[in-house]
Amino acid sequence: MASELEPEVQAIDRSLLECSAEETAGKWLQATDLTSEVYQHLAHYVPKIYCRGPNPFPQKEDMLAQHVLLGPMEWYLCGEDPAFGFPKLEQANKPSHLCGRVFKVGEPTYSCRDCAVDPTCVLCMECFLGSIHRDHRYRMTTSGGGGFCDCGDTEAWKEGPYCQKHELNTSEIEEEEDPLVHLSVDVIARTYNIFAIMFRYAVEILTWEKESELPADLEMEEKSDTYYCMLFNDEVHTYEQVIYTLQKAVNCTQKEAIGFATTVDRDGRRSVRYGDFQYCEQAKSVIVRNTSRQTKPLKVQVMHSSIVAHQNFGLKLLSWLGSIIGYSDGLRRILCQVGLQEGPYGENSCLVDRLMLSDSKLWKGARSVYHQLFMSSLLMDLKYKKLFAIRFAKNYERLQSDYVTDDHDREFSIADLSVQIFTVPSLARMLITEENLMTIIIKTFMDHLRHRDAQGRFQFERYTALQAFKFRRVQSLILDLKYVLISKPTEWSDELRQKFLEGFDAFLELLKCMQGMDPITRQVGQHIEMEPEWEAAFTLQMKLTHVISMMQDWCALDEKVLIEAYKKCLAVLMQCHGGFTDGEQPITLSICGHSVETIRYCVSQEKVSIHLPVSRLLAGLHVLLSKSEVAYKFPELLPLSELSPPMLIEHPLRCLVLCAQVHAGMWRRNGFSLVNQIYYYHNVKCRREMFDKDIVMLQTGVSMMDPNHFLMIMLSRFELYQIFSTPDYGKRFSSEITHKDVVQQNNTLIEEMLYLIIMLVGERFSPGVGQVNTTDEIKREIIHQLSIKPMAHSELVKSLPEDENKETGMESVIEAVAHFKKPGLTGRGMYELKPECTKEFNLYFYHFSRAEQSKAEEAQRKLKRQNREDTALPPPVLPPFCPLFASLVNILQSDVMLCIMGTILQWAVEHNGYAWSESMLQRVLHLIGMALQEEKQHLENVMEEHVVTFTFTQKISKPGEAPNNSPSILAMLETLQNAPYLEVHKDMIRWILKTFNAIKKIRESSSTSPVAETEGTIMEESSRDKDKAERKRKAEIARLRREKIMAQMSEMQRHFIDENKELFQQTLELDSSTSAVLDNSPVVSDVKLIALGPAQTQVPEQRQFVTCILCQEEQEVKVESRAMVLAAFVQRSTVLSKNRRKFIQDPEKYDPLFMHPDLSCGTHTGSCGHIMHAHCWQRYFDSVQAKEQRRQQRLRLHTSYDVENGEFLCPLCECLSNTVIPLLLPPRNIFNRSNFSDQPNLSQWIRTISQQIKALQILRKEESIHNTASSKNSENMGELQLPEGFRPNFHPKNPYSESIKEMLTTFGTATYKVGLKVHPNEEDPRVPIMCWGSCAYTIQSIERILSDEDKPLFGPLPCRLDDCLRSLTRFAAAHWTVASLSVVQGHLCKLFASLVPNDSYEDLPCILDIDMFHLLVGLVLAFPALQCQDFSGVSLSTGDLHIFHLVTMAHIIQILLTSCTEENGMDQENPTGEEELAVLDLYKTIHQYTGSALKEIPSGWHLWKSIRAGIMPFLKCSALFFHYLNGVPSPPDIQVSGLSHFEHLCNYLSLPTNLICLFQENNEIMNSLIESWCHNSEVKRYLASERDAISYPRESNKLIDLPEDYSSLINQASNFSCPKSGGDKSRAPTLCLVCGTLLCSQSYCCQTELEGEDVGACTAHTYSCGSGAGIFLRVRECQVLFLAGKTKGCFYSPPYLDDYGETDQGLRRGNPLHLCKERFQKIQKLWHQHSITEEIGHAQEANQTLVGIDWQHL
Ligand SMILES: [Zn+2]
Ligand SMILES: [Zn+2]
Ligand SMILES: [Zn+2]
Ligand SMILES: [Zn+2]
Ligand SMILES: [Zn+2]
Ligand SMILES: [Zn+2]
Ligand SMILES: [Zn+2]
Repeated sequence: MASELEPEVQAIDRSLLECSAEETAGKWLQATDLTSEVYQHLAHYVPKIYCRGPNPFPQKEDMLAQHVLLGPMEWYLCGEDPAFGFPKLEQANKPSHLCGRVFKVGEPTYSCRDCAVDPTCVLCMECFLGSIHRDHRYRMTTSGGGGFCDCGDTEAWKEGPYCQKHELNTSEIEEEEDPLVHLSVDVIARTYNIFAIMFRYAVEILTWEKESELPADLEMEEKSDTYYCMLFNDEVHTYEQVIYTLQKAVNCTQKEAIGFATTVDRDGRRSVRYGDFQYCEQAKSVIVRNTSRQTKPLKVQVMHSSIVAHQNFGLKLLSWLGSIIGYSDGLRRILCQVGLQEGPYGENSCLVDRLMLSDSKLWKGARSVYHQLFMSSLLMDLKYKKLFAIRFAKNYERLQSDYVTDDHDREFSIADLSVQIFTVPSLARMLITEENLMTIIIKTFMDHLRHRDAQGRFQFERYTALQAFKFRRVQSLILDLKYVLISKPTEWSDELRQKFLEGFDAFLELLKCMQGMDPITRQVGQHIEMEPEWEAAFTLQMKLTHVISMMQDWCALDEKVLIEAYKKCLAVLMQCHGGFTDGEQPITLSICGHSVETIRYCVSQEKVSIHLPVSRLLAGLHVLLSKSEVAYKFPELLPLSELSPPMLIEHPLRCLVLCAQVHAGMWRRNGFSLVNQIYYYHNVKCRREMFDKDIVMLQTGVSMMDPNHFLMIMLSRFELYQIFSTPDYGKRFSSEITHKDVVQQNNTLIEEMLYLIIMLVGERFSPGVGQVNTTDEIKREIIHQLSIKPMAHSELVKSLPEDENKETGMESVIEAVAHFKKPGLTGRGMYELKPECTKEFNLYFYHFSRAEQSKAEEAQRKLKRQNREDTALPPPVLPPFCPLFASLVNILQSDVMLCIMGTILQWAVEHNGYAWSESMLQRVLHLIGMALQEEKQHLENVMEEHVVTFTFTQKISKPGEAPNNSPSILAMLETLQNAPYLEVHKDMIRWILKTFNAIKKIRESSSTSPVAETEGTIMEESSRDKDKAERKRKAEIARLRREKIMAQMSEMQRHFIDENKELFQQTLELDSSTSAVLDNSPVVSDVKLIALGPAQTQVPEQRQFVTCILCQEEQEVKVESRAMVLAAFVQRSTVLSKNRRKFIQDPEKYDPLFMHPDLSCGTHTGSCGHIMHAHCWQRYFDSVQAKEQRRQQRLRLHTSYDVENGEFLCPLCECLSNTVIPLLLPPRNIFNRSNFSDQPNLSQWIRTISQQIKALQILRKEESIHNTASSKNSENMGELQLPEGFRPNFHPKNPYSESIKEMLTTFGTATYKVGLKVHPNEEDPRVPIMCWGSCAYTIQSIERILSDEDKPLFGPLPCRLDDCLRSLTRFAAAHWTVASLSVVQGHLCKLFASLVPNDSYEDLPCILDIDMFHLLVGLVLAFPALQCQDFSGVSLSTGDLHIFHLVTMAHIIQILLTSCTEENGMDQENPTGEEELAVLDLYKTIHQYTGSALKEIPSGWHLWKSIRAGIMPFLKCSALFFHYLNGVPSPPDIQVSGLSHFEHLCNYLSLPTNLICLFQENNEIMNSLIESWCHNSEVKRYLASERDAISYPRESNKLIDLPEDYSSLINQASNFSCPKSGGDKSRAPTLCLVCGTLLCSQSYCCQTELEGEDVGACTAHTYSCGSGAGIFLRVRECQVLFLAGKTKGCFYSPPYLDDYGETDQGLRRGNPLHLCKERFQKIQKLWHQHSITEEIGHAQEANQTLVGIDWQHL
């Protein structure tokens, strides 16, 4: 070790190195005053080791500290060499059965939904995988840091508390033994000594507050003038502010400032300057001045270096203690003992207290170090955990207050440890009984909310920012209360009862402060000026919701407690509202001979509050009482007699009336805050302890009073009393008052009131109200949610209230009510309601919002129509009420109710005279239905001797009494049945009448009790009715059909693009229906099809007509006509790259002529295939450009496309495009001069071409001399011996129209610009190369996709691909006509020279470094430039053929050199086939030319196999290329998938099937060529294994393999730390799916500069890995990220699904996620198809917010 560190150590004080740990420890052992001895040592050495300069040197410091400071302690502790001592201790120790692993930020944690006592009980990954819970319903989250694994904690798990690993250690834990028995007395004593001194030292120095003075016993002899300017973290200033300030204050670069800021943020402090006091003070004042303007300034201290040194060592010491106690439980116990031992100063003086109480003064780094020590010591020792819990509870108030005033997040506060302590059931129970913890928490909480109104209620109205901030922080106390209550007691002691009720009292005090808070008064006339504050109150309510529920749960467990709590709650409610009648004049209401006294109160005129937690708690307790045994057996024991029902119902009723009035539009002027409050009142997050309980309270009231009285009070509160109490009031009302609004308002109020009555009678699914259990309740919720529409699991979960364990109970019942439908490639899995459950549907289900109600109604009616049933939605049969609530049903048959029903029916009958509404009638019908159901139930379940007192049928048959003599309700229903204006309700009325008769029958059969006569007409559906019904049904069908058509039309308009997008995305998902191959070529029957060469199949000229998508004009594609173009998108690509490290360094100098076989840096062209006139496109593009400029000026918005870069969206399909390709006829036909005979063979041809090239080269040379020297004249030309028929000064005429020529240039330039990322320059000689390259690369990429998917080469391609390839190939072939002839000739010469040696070129790549397909395309497409000057009789097609053969042979040599090395041992048999013999021969030749460097001859069979496999991709690409170039139809055999088609391809390509024949036929020239190829020095280096080469066939690139279980990815990412900031955890670890690199995304630390801009790690990575496009997985978010360039990106759904077929973007739900291979395939396909950019474009068009994101910073 010493030798390694030698150079570093040299600069260090020799005395440090000479210090011996053993000697020092020896001295200490002898010491009489150990403390002062040790302190002296520290005082002397610590400042010598730590903080010696401006920059920290942690490794060096740690090394020296270990040597000089910690070493002696370890020696002392062990009494021997710690290298032996500690292992001994470890061996003697019994390993702990607790895991206790402290979580890192981002580490995955697991909780079991079945077994965890509460959701805070978690396991680390290792423990989880070894536990039984991995097969349970578990939940997965990423840790925010802090907290530890609960494995082994028997209190945390209902089942399976140990994983396999920790189970091993559980054998003897039964009896708690003292861990100290494993230690010797000496070790105990020494450990105790040294721990006591060191722990005290650390606490003292860390809590030391003086800035330049040390504690006396640590003061140094001589003190230097060296200080640090220490900057501390706060949560007020932003990163940017800090960075900016630092640059100013300490003159550092931005990079250094970022470094400082990052450390300050992470560790909580960082010295930003080192020097003398003055120097540091100066920096401090600048920082303070600069940051004090708006807020409190940044905290800065000028600290003496020795203090900083001791503090740093103090931290080191605490971590050291943490690791030392890991050796033995005994050591841990001693440390706990030391920490909790009371100090000399009495109360709160133990070291643990001192640390906790200074918590808010410590910086982040110090806090987290000692928190971790606490977790690994105090919380891991069963005995001391308890003692520590008591200390924590005793200090609770102080710690919380410190936290509330501190500004750091809770995770950095000691207060956060509450979750570790309070969630342990035994500790929580102990703290409640012994420390009165419940009361303490609630009182502490109340103490922080001192702002009250005159009635002592909370007032949030005029909160300052600071108070609001405090309010936010104080909410965490509610969480503590929740932790304490989360595990419910199984048995009660008297003490527990007493303390719980004491806590309950405190809780009631809290609720009392909320009862009636935020009261509101209806605004009339003016609109309110300022929206009142409402959120704070609702936040409080929301946070308390679970606590309120848990309080009730606790009460439910013990009857004594329940009754006591009930009494207390009632008493408090009386205090709140006892005197609600005070000062009010009582008024008397009377209807139908009933009268009741009440107060005069109008919701619309007086104050009303939504917050009634005390009433609601009482309602909850009442239900519990109703459930209890006492209620059945001894109801007289209950304090029910003290209740005053009118008082109970008053406030909840007001609240419900308020909702009704808001709905009726009476409170419009009160603004949105009220609307929001009403919304939350009903919302799933609050309703359980708000709306639901108000309903229960009213139910309680009704069940205890005369229903007639109740209804009258209700009418009065709804301000409807007048209408129903005065006969004919309604008529007068509607005729006299013409004010429509008021009529409307009253109608709505009546509807709302009826709805409320329906709810009061119908909502009996809370256990205690009705005779149901919890399962029934959840089942009913789910049935009603699914009645609206099928839902995904997460949607359903969101619609159900969660309990404190985040459970909805849904899983237990969902199977019973719904079917699960699995998701497809997109979308989610869905639950669908089982048909048999629809009969439980209640249209007036109380948790429906209005929108949901109408959707559900529509859906259910539709369902009924589909099943050919009538469309009535009668009320479902309900469970019976519990005894306490049983009398509630009588409300339905009460006189006032019958009067209300009668009145409304009367209005409906008289129709025109009154203001009434159909919904009103619908509700009355529903109520009547409910009453009938009720009566039927009663009759069916009646006991022998009981008389059924529910006689609704009788009552509605009676006509009204004199003087009104109104008809009976029944009679009115019969009348209404035939009313023409009530078509919609007929089914329901019919159902009512039918049910009425059924009941009548039951009554008649069971008893003799007289039932009023019913007219015989009811049952007979008159034929007239039937007719009508039929007509109605037909009309309905017609209407539906009309609607459907209309909907379809608008759908078509709206979703044209979406649909097309779908179509386009199917790119290669081919079934013949979606893809029409328009093979324009005529069917050539039975002829052997040949794609090239002199024997090429002649295809008759085909006329092609196309339509412009912009002007809809049709035009023929011709050489001389106006250009037609296809929208196209050119992009750089690395999809096929075999070498991602390679990218174009200097695009200006880069020579793309030869493509390397690693295919890095390709240029891909794609097209949506939509055709336009060139001029139409120009006009369109100009207008887009103009519009965009205007838009940018106005809004400065980005768009999904970059107009300045030439991007636009295809006008038809909105596909991203950046140029256009011209549409051309096969160009070869234009240039091919006809009918040549007697063509040269390959050797002759090569010779001819070589001569021509030589001639050209001489000419060029002369020209250049001529140009530079400008001396000689052109006569020299004549001196040159030109080959026969070669006319180099001949320039052919360009056959194309101007417009086509222009487009040829346009597309060529675009390819050049994008492909090389340079400024457009149409003159650049590289333009043609880029065009050929893009053609070759695009063909290769499509060949890859087809092969990967086992698709036939010429199978049905989608039109857009077919069109794109055809146009691209023909364009590339025609491009030379607009380029400089000499430039193209130059390229040709050079390309040719790479195969046929030519002295004039040096540095040509060897054949191993050339992609042969690119070479082929280049040669074939450049060749016409030479051939056009050749009049010797060599035809273009001869040239093509020879070029193809030559390149093919070169490729075969390439394959033989690189790809035949591995010998297959299976077959050593002698070569038999013709091919095998030939290839052996060839191999021998090569072997000879390479100087036997090639491997010894393998078998011929093997060689031939390798060649066939290796050359296939090349042959396929060539077939595509010549097919599109020459337009020869593909042979039918290759159009179907299956065999490899080797023979067919050879035939089509005019090759012998024995490819080696090519060599034999041309051996004269080939031998010399092969020799020249093999003699290349690079080839030799390769054969000598000095370099690599690509071998064939190249394998397809794939996205990286992803693990099946998502959590292993999270785990992997949690181990990843930022590569730039030394071991820091990355906040947004992001995985490149292309190459598997993990990146530190979205973070300052890893920003780099790219083209003059700061970009995040992902954007930077795309430039090297994907040439601008990237596919990433954001691991913490479980989100796929697509990036393209700097400005474009989108999120894409991840390939991980939970068991319900849903993704979890953001990992919010935490269900286990598994890889969905199909979805991952889809992403890979998008990548292979080069569709990432297009996908981003579509996403951004669909969602404009994506455009605004700063993608480059990710
Ligand atoms: Zn663990
Ligand atoms: Zn474990
Ligand atoms: Zn479990
Ligand atoms: Zn047009
Ligand atoms: Zn298009
Ligand atoms: Zn990558
Ligand atoms: Zn980083």
